[in-house]
Amino acid sequence: MALLEIKNLQVRVEEREILHGLTLTIDAGKVHAIMGPNGSGKSTLSHVIAGKPGYEVTGGEILFKGEDLLAMAPDERAAKGVFLAFQYPVEIPGVATMTFLRTALNAQRKARGEEEYSTPDFLKKVREISKSLNIPQDMLKRGVNVGFSGGEKKRNEVLQMALFQPSLCILDEMDSGLDIDALRIAADGVNALRSPERSMIVITHYQRLLNYIVPDVVHVMSKGRVVKSGGKELALELEASGYAQFEDAA
Ligand code: ADP
Ligand code: MG
Ligand code: MG
Repeated sequence: MALLEIKNLQVRVEEREILHGLTLTIDAGKVHAIMGPNGSGKSTLSHVIAGKPGYEVTGGEILFKGEDLLAMAPDERAAKGVFLAFQYPVEIPGVATMTFLRTALNAQRKARGEEEYSTPDFLKKVREISKSLNIPQDMLKRGVNVGFSGGEKKRNEVLQMALFQPSLCILDEMDSGLDIDALRIAADGVNALRSPERSMIVITHYQRLLNYIVPDVVHVMSKGRVVKSGGKELALELEASGYAQFEDAA
């Protein structure tokens, strides 16, 4: 069954239409890459799925596990299992990363009707995951993302994903600003979260990331629409031929 079904989605930002009838279906357990030139609407799509304010949906629909996602508030979407990571991680000075993780995790568990983690269980879980992601314990005591390097911010988001166990992870340009070692650690963390129940949307401008997170399906976005879909080999074709060929199709 489809985890996410987007049908003919039309979205405006500040009176200008950015998504012009975008259709996309994602099955449970699949990793879909979305590629496309700058300004094609990739981040807009991810923000609309997560429920970020400022986007006006003027047509179409989004079903998540068969339910109307657009009718849900952002925190409700998160509680249902939608997780958006990366392009511009927010800094929260004065709130230790550990405290933030615990509060957010317990709020989500509560919203799902699950029990909160006990302190020892929570600490054990965080330690296990942060070790696998090469996250030092002192980083977790610092304010959320404050003074974190690009690589540290991304590892912190992968840590959140591993804790929250979302059913849909949207990774928006996780490769931006990462050196190859940091990219490998973050990508390994993402790969460890692949499962038959969990789907991922990996947004990227470049093919390189998809050597590390190998997608099941690749889509090309151009001018607010999905203009081509294929297997992982499509990413390699794009690397060779560029995006210009899609300008007319869009
Ligand atoms: P991508 O992520 O593919 O680079 P975006 O979704 O960021 O594309 O942007 C798509 C288009 O929407 C661009 O033309 C961009 O200028 C415009 N856009 C995005 N966000 C805003 C905003 N908050 N206000 C005005 N225009 C925006
Ligand atoms: Mg962009
Ligand atoms: Mg973007």
